[in-house]
Amino acid sequence: MRIPEIQMNTTLSAIRSDFPILSTTVYGKPLVYFDNAATTQKPSAVIDAITGYYSETNSNVHRGVHHLSQQATLAYENARKKIADFVNAASDAEIIFTRGTTESINLVAWSFGEAFVKEGDEILISALEHHSNIVPWQQLCLRKKAVLRVIPVYDNGELDQEAYMKLLNDCTRIVAVNHISNSLGTINPIKGMIRQAHERGIPVLIDGAQGISHGPVDVQELNCDFYTFSAHKMYGPMGIGGLYGKKDWLKQMPPYQCGGEMIEKVTFEETTFNELPYKFEAGTPNVAGAIGFGTAVDYLGNLGWDFIRTRESDLLNYATEKLSQIEGVRIIGTSAQKASILSFLIGNIHFFDAGTIIDQYGIAVRTGNHCTQPLMDRLCLLGTIRASFAFYNTREEIDLLAEAVLKVKELFA
Ligand code: PLP
Repeated sequence: MRIPEIQMNTTLSAIRSDFPILSTTVYGKPLVYFDNAATTQKPSAVIDAITGYYSETNSNVHRGVHHLSQQATLAYENARKKIADFVNAASDAEIIFTRGTTESINLVAWSFGEAFVKEGDEILISALEHHSNIVPWQQLCLRKKAVLRVIPVYDNGELDQEAYMKLLNDCTRIVAVNHISNSLGTINPIKGMIRQAHERGIPVLIDGAQGISHGPVDVQELNCDFYTFSAHKMYGPMGIGGLYGKKDWLKQMPPYQCGGEMIEKVTFEETTFNELPYKFEAGTPNVAGAIGFGTAVDYLGNLGWDFIRTRESDLLNYATEKLSQIEGVRIIGTSAQKASILSFLIGNIHFFDAGTIIDQYGIAVRTGNHCTQPLMDRLCLLGTIRASFAFYNTREEIDLLAEAVLKVKELFA
């Protein structure tokens, strides 16, 4: 669907005004924020929800009979329901609040690993993974004397699906792959990958840190066993995120952390554990964060995926075309299915040098290995310049990026 230009601009300026930071300046120039894959900006609705909670409702949840505690509990559980609906989980109990994707993956790697992984077993990840979806599995393999296997990636950023099928075997205990690559923007064919693993009885964890903000995620339709996400990449607050897990798995997995809230009964001799999802939520949770997260999900729901996807694909296509026209610019990652993440290099100019010049234009891009060192090694690169676009970005901002890239070329000629 193509949204008519005028309607788009009117809507866009209203949307941009929802994000206070977008009207700030950097070095006296309007901020151009192209680091959305690292973290997205927050609309006033989210900021207000957090302030509102601390101003009017702040209280610990689940433990009090008093009015405030009941209100806070209601708001916290209501947020869980919003997230469950957002990903179409079969039950609210399948949504565990965590600090974000990293903690969610660590939870599964530790808890699933404790219950189901033994010496000689294999864990299958891909060459496209963020360190958060490598290191927890590597540590598990060290603890259990298991083996880490890696699905190879083609030069264009697509995973080798034939190799994937060959790597699945009777020793594979779990597959853990990302939905969208944060470095290259590749959208992985996760539905087919999940089906193939399930045909061999192997569960699949999807690292959805990037996937969940670019299009609808329906965990029942995907049939994934675990899906992990971070609110701060979804226009919500930092320090909160979630793990979707199928009840059947979560019930069989031991608690990841122990303390208050996750227990049913404690004596000095033994402890019995609370039901799901509380078994995995030890201690006082990030109530304000959960409420802000729920509001972010409402905000995305109001915008709608049609709008978000139309905007983001327009920006990706426009930026790809614009930067490709500049001699010496090399786009890194050219998979057929791609999210609005554009990695590139300018000739032999070091990405840090380029990023420093681009920053002088008030443009925030990310430079480096993007927490994917093994992927960079595979591509024989030290890092890239990454511009990642959100629905609130504009073509004019991309024009400015192109101008900054030309300046980089001129200065380092
Ligand atoms: N996985 C991917 C694909 C990511 O892009 C990121 C963050 O950039 C993470 C995991 C880690 O997310 P967080 O730092 O929010 O836990």
